[in-house]
Amino acid sequence: MSNNIVIAIDGYSSCGKSTLAKALAKKLHFIYIDSGAMYRAVTLYFLRNHVDLTNHEQIAEALKNIHLNFHSRDYQTHITLNDEEVSEEIRQMPVSDKVSEVAALREVRHEMVKQQQRMGRSKNIVMDGRDIGTTVFPDATLKIFMTADPKVRAERRFKELQEKNPNITLEEVFENIAHRDYQDTTRAESPLVRAPDAIILDNTNMTPDQQLQFALDKVEPLLS
Ligand code: C5P
Repeated sequence: MSNNIVIAIDGYSSCGKSTLAKALAKKLHFIYIDSGAMYRAVTLYFLRNHVDLTNHEQIAEALKNIHLNFHSRDYQTHITLNDEEVSEEIRQMPVSDKVSEVAALREVRHEMVKQQQRMGRSKNIVMDGRDIGTTVFPDATLKIFMTADPKVRAERRFKELQEKNPNITLEEVFENIAHRDYQDTTRAESPLVRAPDAIILDNTNMTPDQQLQFALDKVEPLLS
């Protein structure tokens, strides 16, 4: 039986899950896995190859041709799609607009969950996403469910995106977040929901350091 430690961080879009997950992984010397990057890379492949999301055969065929790999450098997510570095491209709006639709597909979820479970089988990891504490690792050592005021979330994400895309508007970002939350919480296949044993972290008025301290206070007693 493996006794590796798994920290599952779930929550709404643009809540700062990855910021906290990275900081936690760095502090604890764990591996950080951004499960959302996997759904984003699959979406990029589907967009590029015009995969029809209503055609199950096409979806299954496409999934067979997708090979994802993480390369961790300084706890930043570097993901390759069939050996091409796509870390930047998967953050752009065309992917953000489509990703929740792709992530709702049963075949896609089954394949991603299988790969995620494999990654956490024998290593100490921090994984963030939407279904990590409910579906991927229901026995995770610690589960955190993150939330924050939607307006604050949109403003934070807007500032980040604006650096690379000066034409983006706050409304566009707000709508994208609201749309993804709606799709993620209402889909049939492993919807975004707080696991009953997940600790809630509302970071509307918290700094990243305060969030890290909050998480460390929860995890440290479990490490001995
Ligand atoms: O975490 P991030 O916002 O990059 O994830 C992009 C999208 O991928 C989410 O809006 C959600 O639709 C999907 N996702 C998911 N399950 C996960 C991680 C992400 O459905 N575990």
